[in-house]
Amino acid sequence: MNKRLRELLAKTLFIKDIKCLFCNRELDFDSRYCVCDDCLKSLPYITGKICKKCGEPIKSMAAYCMRCKNHVDRGFDVARATFLYKGVIKDGIINLKYYGNKYLAEYLSSFLLDSYYKYDFKSDVIIPAPMSAKSLKARGFNQAEMLCSAFIDKGLDVNTNCVAKVLETQNQAKLNFKDRQTNLVGAFKVVNKKAVENKNVLIVDDIFTTGATCSEIASALKKAGAKRVDVITLCHDMPEDVTN
Ligand SMILES: [Zn+2]
Ligand SMILES: [Zn+2]
Repeated sequence: MNKRLRELLAKTLFIKDIKCLFCNRELDFDSRYCVCDDCLKSLPYITGKICKKCGEPIKSMAAYCMRCKNHVDRGFDVARATFLYKGVIKDGIINLKYYGNKYLAEYLSSFLLDSYYKYDFKSDVIIPAPMSAKSLKARGFNQAEMLCSAFIDKGLDVNTNCVAKVLETQNQAKLNFKDRQTNLVGAFKVVNKKAVENKNVLIVDDIFTTGATCSEIASALKKAGAKRVDVITLCHDMPEDVTN
């Protein structure tokens, strides 16, 4: 194949397991995550002490972060994340969400599944955080849903038709902490109660920031009869207004 065509194809297609997901370097070995050694070493894994409730890294001796201590925004039982929202992982999520590089989701999902086992979640049903119909139409896919692919491969029960986002809300990223909570009130509706009644439910999302979104979904699920609602996200973003 001529060189220019090859380069063009490489830019257009992602050829499975040949190039590193993050830096495009050629892989000369089989990698479960499709990531080269250097990128693997640079991944911002969350290690060390975390808040017992929301999984936020904490430096102090406290068991909970300030927000969990104050019982703010915590409709869920426990939230855990694999990475901090930075470095190659942040780039990867941006590439997936805003540049439509959907092939990334399959691999990122493997990291999420690792955390599912690491934190010993035993969920009956797994629910990707839903998007509103308008946002879904604009993006064309729900990244949270795509991040569930590794769970589906493992035969876990992933339900994408159980909770709906019925209100179009303002972009959370543009709001301050207090407004994030009020912005979401009544935004989520459980449309299939039977699927969650008396069940251990796990919400899957890409980023946990203040927890407002997951908390609101969890509250709706609990009202609908869910026994327990946990959250797993690929990243935990450290809010700027908080020091633990
Ligand atoms: Zn790499
Ligand atoms: Zn916390």
